[in-house]
Amino acid sequence: MRQKLVAGNWKMNNDLEQGINLTTQIVELMNQQPSLNVLGVLGTPFIHLPQVAKLTASTTMLQVAAQNCHQEPSGAFTGEISCAMLKSVGVTYVIIGHSERREYFKESNELLSRKVDAALSEGLTPIFCCGEPLSIRESNDQMEYVCHQLTSSLFHLTDEQIGSLVVAYEPIWAIGTGKTASAAQAQEMHEGIRNHLASKFGQEIAGNIPILYGGSCKPGNASEIFAGPDVDGGLIGGASLNAEDFMAIINSL
Ligand code: PEP
Repeated sequence: MRQKLVAGNWKMNNDLEQGINLTTQIVELMNQQPSLNVLGVLGTPFIHLPQVAKLTASTTMLQVAAQNCHQEPSGAFTGEISCAMLKSVGVTYVIIGHSERREYFKESNELLSRKVDAALSEGLTPIFCCGEPLSIRESNDQMEYVCHQLTSSLFHLTDEQIGSLVVAYEPIWAIGTGKTASAAQAQEMHEGIRNHLASKFGQEIAGNIPILYGGSCKPGNASEIFAGPDVDGGLIGGASLNAEDFMAIINSL
C-alpha cells in the first residue's frame, strides 16, 4: 500500500508567529481525526522548522519538511543549510527541485541529483519535484521532458534509495496560476512517471512510490484530481496557508 500524503509548501510566507499559529491550528484539526490514514507534511521556511517540529511532535500523522537543502554536508557555504542541520531540528522530509528553485536559482538536474543524495544520506525523505513549462505542454512533449528530469536526477539511485523517495508532479503552468491540470492529464502523467520509474527499478518498487500532484490544488478540486489511481496526494502551495483549506484537502484523499 502506498502512503497517502498531502504536503504543504508555505514558500516564503508567514513570520514566526503566523507560522506557529497556523501549525497549532493544523495540529488541533489533525488531533480531531485520530483515525485519518493520510500523512500531512508541513513544508516551512527554515526559521520555522525547529518550532514546527516541536509543535507537531505529538502526532505521527504530521511531519516537517524543509523547502531546500545544500548538497554538501558542511563547510564554507555562507547562507546555506545542510541536511544534517535539518535532521538535527526534527525535519524528516525535504522538497527538492521545486520549479521555483529550478527557475530562480538555476538548479539543474545534475545539482538536484546531488541534493537527493545528500538528503538520503541523512535519512531525510526527498519530495522530488518534476514538471513541464507551458511551452512543452503546448508541443505535447511533457512526458519526454518529465522522464528526462527523472532519469537525470534519480536513475543513479539504488532500489532501496528510490523506495524511500516521494515524487511530486507539478506542471509549472498550473503552479499559483489558478489553472489545474485536468484529472485525466494528472493521471496520465502520474501513470507515465510510474511506468518510467518501473522501467529502471521494476514494477514492485515503482508501485510503492507515492506520486503527488501539485498546481493550484484547492478544497474544491482536490477530490477530482486525487481520484486518479496513480495520484497519491498533493503538494499544496497557496491553500496550505489556511488550516481549514489544508485539512479539507487532506480529507479529500
Ligand atoms: C507549489 O508551490 O508547489 C504549488 C503547487 O503551489 P500552488 O498550490 O499555489 O499552485
